[in-house]
Amino acid sequence: MPKSIDRCLTSADAAGYKLLAADEPPAFLEAGRQGQSNFVIVVDHASRRIPARLGDLGLPASELQRHIAWDIGSLAVARRVAAELDAPLVAQSYSRLVIDCNRDPKVASSIPTVGESIEIPGNVGLSDEQIAARRSEIFDPYHNHIRALLDERLAAARPTILVSQHSMTNIFRGVRREMHAAILYNRDRRFAGLVLDMLRREDDLRIADNQPYFVSDETDYTIPRHGEARGLPHVEIEIRQDLLHDEAGQADWSRRIARALRDAEHAFMGASA
Ligand SMILES: [Zn+2]
Repeated sequence: MPKSIDRCLTSADAAGYKLLAADEPPAFLEAGRQGQSNFVIVVDHASRRIPARLGDLGLPASELQRHIAWDIGSLAVARRVAAELDAPLVAQSYSRLVIDCNRDPKVASSIPTVGESIEIPGNVGLSDEQIAARRSEIFDPYHNHIRALLDERLAAARPTILVSQHSMTNIFRGVRREMHAAILYNRDRRFAGLVLDMLRREDDLRIADNQPYFVSDETDYTIPRHGEARGLPHVEIEIRQDLLHDEAGQADWSRRIARALRDAEHAFMGASA
């Protein structure tokens, strides 16, 4: 049975509504801030953690393990890639079901009431205070931190290439996805196109070009705000989650992504020098 969920507040406790307890992790984790790489790696959907105050959002445990809650394997790959490249890593600590950190908070699906096709009871009928807390305690600290990191690098005249690491389900609404990974972008294909070329050097891999979806202002936040708006070269990478279930798969894909990023960087810097 789903645990009870926190939906009904009196106006008295709403004013002091706090989502995260003192013993819960901060909104993001960071590693390698002093890394020497030109890359900065971010992971919007790294975790399936739900703040204790929200219980299980009214969902069965099996749903909270699935891709609707997080990008399975994305953090494991990003950690390895960041270590390999000596790049800073910033990753969200809470589930996209609490608030989607790759979506503008103004968009209705920022706090999703449906995941794939299942209703999320704990996200229905939220008060303004509950919505504001999800943003101020989870969304804002993560993106403010990325902003500060990028500002710091700009002030130090350090080049930055932004990498947004995700994973995607292999079966979406009953349809099996054939591609192993996908390279996504919107207005600026400069760097993404190079990463695509590098990954496609392996003949047996199917790497999709802006499929099964693409970056947009409606469906994304990280690349539009931190990449495009700043004019930073960037790429969003999706890897099929079933390829990342074990350590061997994570290690394989980390090596592949790190190599493609490094080679794309050389090509890009060579071209822009
Ligand atoms: Zn994702």
